Amino acid sequence: MGEHFYGGDPHDTPMPMDYFVWAAVSDEHTVVVDTGFTAEVAAKRGRDHLRCPTEGLREIGVDCERVSCVVLTHLHYDHAGNLKKFPAATFVVQEEEMAFWTGRYAGREHFRYTVEVEDVIHLVRENFEGRLCFVDGNEEIVPGIEVYRAGGHSAGLQVVRVETDRGNVVIASDATHFYANLEEDRPFSIVHDLSRMYGAFDLVRSLADSPTHVVPGHDALVMERFPAARKGLEGVVVRIA
Ligand SMILES: [Zn+2]
Repeated sequence: MGEHFYGGDPHDTPMPMDYFVWAAVSDEHTVVVDTGFTAEVAAKRGRDHLRCPTEGLREIGVDCERVSCVVLTHLHYDHAGNLKKFPAATFVVQEEEMAFWTGRYAGREHFRYTVEVEDVIHLVRENFEGRLCFVDGNEEIVPGIEVYRAGGHSAGLQVVRVETDRGNVVIASDATHFYANLEEDRPFSIVHDLSRMYGAFDLVRSLADSPTHVVPGHDALVMERFPAARKGLEGVVVRIA
């Protein structure tokens, strides 16, 4: 399917797309990375909605009502929905991402359909309540968890590096939608800045301990390559590390 690589390719075959949210949990901290989208938005956009991400998080003992830190990798609709379900959270966003979606070009054709306006408005309100944590570049959020601005796919897309027992894992989000984008050095079709998309590939490679430490944003292979978080959650929740 042409839409999976910038410029398209008639030889591309359809690739199924999964949607993920992640939880990085230590003894002291729980950080949720991205918040998925609602059943209503899924219906409007013709996407299959298997379950609310908050239910998946509950399956592994994460209570969204109490989560204090949520990293939003970027504000596209499939990463920044369900925000009301995190009433205790501070949302970590890149300044550049927030500025873009409240700025001059947000409503232009190539960009506007990638966000839900209500999500952006919700974050504007949260900012006035002091519940946005702005990052301008790279920052350690809690010990062992750092965000890095990558840009490319969206103005201020950020990736998350998590120190784990098996090394440094990178939640790459849409810096690489599929393993293939990174492996073949071929950017995805939705582009904010093409050269920065290549830069994001380089960044992700430099941050991860190995290619198997990279978690792409939408690859169904993630659910195959990593084991279920526990018995009964096969195909629903996987443990990366
Ligand atoms: Zn996405």
